[in-house]
Amino acid sequence: MARTKLVAGNWKMHGSRGANQALLDALLKELGAKRNAECAVCVPYPYLEQVAARLRGTPIAWGAQSVSEHAQGAYTGEVSAAMLVEFACRYVLVGHSERRQLYGETDAQVAAKFAAAQSAGLTPILCVGETLQEREGGRTEEVVGRQLDAVLSKVNFGSAVLAYEPVWAIGTGRNATPEQAQDVHAFLRRKTGNEVRILYGGSVKAQNAAAIFAMKDVDGGLIGGASLVARDFLAIYNAAAAAGA
Ligand code: PEP
Repeated sequence: MARTKLVAGNWKMHGSRGANQALLDALLKELGAKRNAECAVCVPYPYLEQVAARLRGTPIAWGAQSVSEHAQGAYTGEVSAAMLVEFACRYVLVGHSERRQLYGETDAQVAAKFAAAQSAGLTPILCVGETLQEREGGRTEEVVGRQLDAVLSKVNFGSAVLAYEPVWAIGTGRNATPEQAQDVHAFLRRKTGNEVRILYGGSVKAQNAAAIFAMKDVDGGLIGGASLVARDFLAIYNAAAAAGA
């Protein structure tokens, strides 16, 4: 079965109403008609209303960058899956390495967030990845396998998306080689099956996107820094569309 490639932008904690407007306008100018690959942006919560209003009825989907594992209650600062559904989000990132590392999210918590998102009808994008020390210690498969198993032991993966994001490649300018990505994706594929889309994330740029997306088990990308620059994000999207043609 052919898996449609997906290029998802992770804006992280960047943006302003003015900058978002300009970025989305520039993306929509080129992405007016649906093409060979899907496109999405995962934006900070306060901008969901603005982004939903601009992207409704266009080929670009939108989503958030995290979600609470709880349905509702006394969880100051948290946002529930049902709230994201009210903004017509399709996607939500769960288990991004910045959440795991800076906010101490555990595998069990990530699995609970995944389940909460899924049962609300969102499509979780589950991020897994090893640190440099873990890679150099030959532990990559053990780590990404453990992160994925925490979810698989709780729920069915269903139509969720998986993103392999080596921590040492995120925001560092040092991407995994296409072969390194393919090796880990093949391992993840054996655990999830043929239908699941597995994105690569970590310093994807216009210059390296085509080679990475050409790999058999790479179904697109999760893009951080380059998703904030329309020209760069579009070039990456075009590489995915060409690879998926
Ligand atoms: C990310 O934040 O998911 C990411 C891949 O960042 P960057 O593309 O900047 O490495």
